Amino acid sequence: MKPRVIVIGAGPAGMLAAGRAAEEGANVLLLEKNSQPGRKILVTGKGRCNLTNACDADEYIANMVGNGSFLFSAFHAFPSSEVIRFFNDLGLPTKVERGSRVFPVRDRAMDVVDTLQRYLKGDRVEIRYHTAADGIHVENGRATAVTATTGERFHGNSLILATGGASYPGTGSTGDGYRIAEALGHTIVPLKPALIPLEVVEPWIGQLQGLSLRNVRATAWTEARSGEKKLGEEFGEMLFTHYGVSGPIIFTLSRPVAAALAKIEREGGERKRGGRSQSAGVWLSINLKPALSEEQLDSRLQRDLTRFSRKQFRNSLDELLPKKMIPVFVDLSGIPPEKPVHQITRGERQRLLELLTDFRVTVTGTRPLREAIVTAGGVSVKEIDPRTMESRMVPGLFFAGEVIDVDGNTGGFNLQTAFCTGYLAGKHAARAASHQ
Ligand SMILES: Cc1cc2nc3c(=O)[nH]c(=O)nc-3n(C[C@H](O)[C@H](O)[C@H](O)COP(=O)(O)OP(=O)(O)OC[C@H]3O[C@@H](n4cnc5c(N)ncnc54)[C@H](O)[C@@H]3O)c2cc1C
Repeated sequence: MKPRVIVIGAGPAGMLAAGRAAEEGANVLLLEKNSQPGRKILVTGKGRCNLTNACDADEYIANMVGNGSFLFSAFHAFPSSEVIRFFNDLGLPTKVERGSRVFPVRDRAMDVVDTLQRYLKGDRVEIRYHTAADGIHVENGRATAVTATTGERFHGNSLILATGGASYPGTGSTGDGYRIAEALGHTIVPLKPALIPLEVVEPWIGQLQGLSLRNVRATAWTEARSGEKKLGEEFGEMLFTHYGVSGPIIFTLSRPVAAALAKIEREGGERKRGGRSQSAGVWLSINLKPALSEEQLDSRLQRDLTRFSRKQFRNSLDELLPKKMIPVFVDLSGIPPEKPVHQITRGERQRLLELLTDFRVTVTGTRPLREAIVTAGGVSVKEIDPRTMESRMVPGLFFAGEVIDVDGNTGGFNLQTAFCTGYLAGKHAARAASHQ
């Protein structure tokens, strides 16, 4: 009889692992608790799915900020160039955008799910939907079966745990894999949100809800003994929400910001746990016009103020700022809204310049884990062989994807990780199964 591999979780990691194990000659059973595969893929890249990054190994590892070096073998086994070729060969054309981000040509995440499903078609991968794994059965020290919540037991020669992280639980990623791995003796590195929106204290933030800014530069700062300390700086797109800020550059900054907030909390800082009414000692400075030097911006401002000299101040900013931002901006400037523009003083103009280049919000915390793009923490990489993805504690058990304690920046790096760890786990699980 053919060796049998059981894969838990039909996300990108599990689907790749299942297909790869089948290509290696195994009989594969893929268990998924939802009624369809790859639900999280559908929400990726704002529904467009940034499926990988056309980068080399060094860049990939640098961007996998949580345990990148663990992923060296996985990336080499299935680098992004191969991921792109894999999808192209299966009939999904892709395109490369700014920052080497790779998307399906039609900008539809559903195309990625369809392609992965096509990959699994044939008689070697059987998919069982509505089947939630509850535990793994170990016999003579080896993983031999998956127990489902229904009480059913599925026997396999090798098992792959690819249940994802603990964010966006509505997609099926509810963190079951952590519990299952922990019950087998694996260490679960504490879970934390990675790539997460930030909450801010300013009461006017709600007025900006829904406003998206492109080509801005955000710099995160914290107070330090020696003065102000820069935590990070990003250029690109961000979004205001009713509670704070979100969007690609905020996600990237959220890691050092969260670390700084945690440090402040540890050191008994002023921040109230979960509260929103205290200064956190961490703030974002947003440069709304980073393409212009201070002199260029000043002459631009003078030009606008001269042009609109007969208007009231509040009606003079239409060409400089998005509509939604103007009332907040006027308020923060301290300049009376009705003041005739020709009466604006040099000092007031200086204040406007400051606001344009150093628009500040005070960060009080991150949003909860369920809203994170990725979960940091998970099954400790120390207990997984990076060349095969096999557990060092329970032979016959393999891991793939976000359930492992790895996490990366935005840009397609996290799905690349799901694919390459899935590839490696599938290949070696099938080989290990054939030796049983
Ligand atoms: C809003 C959002 C946007 C994102 N955009 C991008 C992007 O553009 N590019 C990028 O690279 N990454 C992006 N990510 C991250 C990326 O989606 C994840 O890192 C990736 O999906 C992880 O893949 P996975 O297969 O490990 O886990 P998941 O995709 O979480 O899949 C896990 C699967 O396991 C199933 N499962 C869970 N528990 C059980 C159980 N007990 N029994 C059976 N099945 C179970 C789940 O239902 C699910 O189908 C985004 C994430 C979010 C939330």
